[in-house]
Amino acid sequence: MGTRIIICSNCGTVNKNSDYCTSCNVLISDKKKRALKAKEVKEKQIKEAIDDLENQNLAERLKKHPNIFYKILGWIMYSVITVVSIIAAGLAWIIAMIAAG
Ligand SMILES: [Zn+2]
Repeated sequence: MGTRIIICSNCGTVNKNSDYCTSCNVLISDKKKRALKAKEVKEKQIKEAIDDLENQNLAERLKKHPNIFYKILGWIMYSVITVVSIIAAGLAWIIAMIAAG
């Protein structure tokens, strides 16, 4: 790998083969900085995916809510989602039938 010499942008100390400055402990490795950035982006994407999943399960979670008001709300949402998907499936079937002629 060889010797990597990185001059700290914070205090000017010359560091060899170090990700952090030996003098002031600032992160100086570009590779490490990029890796950290990539990790942040990945964590953000995972968090967004989890949020989406939680939204999809909102009706299911509300149905199990101890508060009766939320429970009813969950059932209403569940019914609406079910009815809408049945209508959508019906429409898709009708469109398919029309297209088939
Ligand atoms: Zn430094």
